Amino acid sequence: MRTRLKILLILAALLLGWPQTILRLESLIAPDFQPVALFAYSGLLGLCLVGMFSAAFIPVAAVRWGFALFISVAGILVETYQSSVEDHMPYDAFISMINASGSLHEAWGQYAGSIVIGGVQALLLLLGIGLSTHRAGRAHSKKLIAAPLLILLVLAGILFIRGGDGARGLPPGYTGAAYSLLYGYERSTDVVAPRGPVRLPLVRPLNGDGDIVLLVDESISGQYLDINSDRGIYSGLKAPGNGVAVHNFGLAVSIAHCSAAVNYTLRHGGTRDDYVRINGTMPSIWSYARNAGLETVYIDVPRTNRIFNNMMDEAEAKDIDRWIQFDEVPIQRRDHAAADALAGLLNDGKRQFIYVQKIGAHFPIHDKYPDAYMRYRPALPRGQFLNISDTGDRTGFSGSRESWVRYRNAYRNTLLWNIGAFFDRLLGEADLADSTIIYLADHGQNLHERGGTGVVTHCSPDPKPEEGLVPLVVLQSADPARRSGGIDWDAAAAQGRNRTSHFQIFPTVLGLMGYDPQTVQAIYGSDLRRVDETAPFAFNYQFNARLGRPPSWKTIDLDQIAWPPEGDFAPVPAAKRGQAVAAPPPSHRRAATGTK
Ligand SMILES: [Zn+2]
Repeated sequence: MRTRLKILLILAALLLGWPQTILRLESLIAPDFQPVALFAYSGLLGLCLVGMFSAAFIPVAAVRWGFALFISVAGILVETYQSSVEDHMPYDAFISMINASGSLHEAWGQYAGSIVIGGVQALLLLLGIGLSTHRAGRAHSKKLIAAPLLILLVLAGILFIRGGDGARGLPPGYTGAAYSLLYGYERSTDVVAPRGPVRLPLVRPLNGDGDIVLLVDESISGQYLDINSDRGIYSGLKAPGNGVAVHNFGLAVSIAHCSAAVNYTLRHGGTRDDYVRINGTMPSIWSYARNAGLETVYIDVPRTNRIFNNMMDEAEAKDIDRWIQFDEVPIQRRDHAAADALAGLLNDGKRQFIYVQKIGAHFPIHDKYPDAYMRYRPALPRGQFLNISDTGDRTGFSGSRESWVRYRNAYRNTLLWNIGAFFDRLLGEADLADSTIIYLADHGQNLHERGGTGVVTHCSPDPKPEEGLVPLVVLQSADPARRSGGIDWDAAAAQGRNRTSHFQIFPTVLGLMGYDPQTVQAIYGSDLRRVDETAPFAFNYQFNARLGRPPSWKTIDLDQIAWPPEGDFAPVPAAKRGQAVAAPPPSHRRAATGTK
């Protein structure tokens, strides 16, 4: 009787976490049937079930209850997360949740329903495994004790090798228990820890009293802009002429080739060798700014309605004084609304640190520019993506050679609007005085200049070098009497041209805020004033590398990069510049082969 009750309780607990198992199974069957992965997952799921049921029959009460308590408590976190976001809980989310456990009372207000589900599941599991069977049999005692623990170690080992990845769709209790073991290991090696306070000494702000702006664009390939190529797209940065000096670092290499990884590291710092620990445990850029006496402002263009972007969370947002979003502004005009907001902040006389997350040229770009900026043709068809700021969905884009020609032209038009016209507007309105603006993009794009099929532009598992190639520019007042002379940007840009990386930005910003450059460099690496001759010109395409999984670096050889094809559109006679360019659609001998 008791045996049947225990089995029922465990099954009920498993049933509560069932949606993730179904999702995992579905993903392994469609759209592509993956027999090997399906076999591996089924095996692992089966092992977890064997582990749970054998644990329930461990005759030694203390061991049985101990194991029951461990996996049910660990499972609360996983189930609560999964039922609130309706998705699998990755290992780094588990770490964030433990780090945020101090603000449980706030979480209760927001996620009470999910916490209850997690709690009920834990209780069912605790009783199901823990209750005694009232049998004295000790025949298989050792095996019953060993099986659940060995299975847990096997699971933790698999997750370790895979950098924390691989528990999708497994019972939350086992996932949580394995995550706890990995977490314990990383705590013991100081890779994870609660985020610490600012400890660096303040000496002298290299930026004087001026604002510091990190202007982070989205999906901009540096080699498409006129500052980096004679045939590049108008950026408004080549010769602004309104009292602004532009210091061009040319083509720089990004941290990674996905938005979240780059923005997270730009906001928390990190070096090539030590980014997981630094960006997970050291203070955010907001904390440093506040500690240095600057007001902190976050202009988030892509998102609305207080939705977090690029791995930001409540804890990080606490150090932001003003969080500006543009809920009412259409996507096509949002970067320009950001230009107005930024100009206002630059002109307000307050000393601020401003992080601008632009909307830039992320897919979809069919409608990111107004009709008047349809300068390059043929472009992508218009009218269907007016309300989507960014998506990974490529529905409606075939990936054929002809569609990539259209994509690149739409991209050029988007750059004209969201960079060229953006900077014209910003620099026309703003008085830079002694402010410093660092302009960069999060990552570049593979726009299939070399041909080839596929629809992905960045963040691909086997990236092209152009996915990590970004523009990097520093803007200041052209008037030496007005700007602070803390950094000789002419010298820095000349020395760093085509050889700097995103990793140098965080230490540069700290120096501008006033932190001691020597101490900063010892932790965060070289700033933009120094070129580290030993640093590879490479970006990381395995950003979630931790535990037993190393990062993967993609080296960029600037002699081998793909430049924008000139045949995408018809050249314009000088007399007709500024008018729309129409090119006949490219003809192909064979039918274009599209991909999904
Ligand atoms: Zn991005």
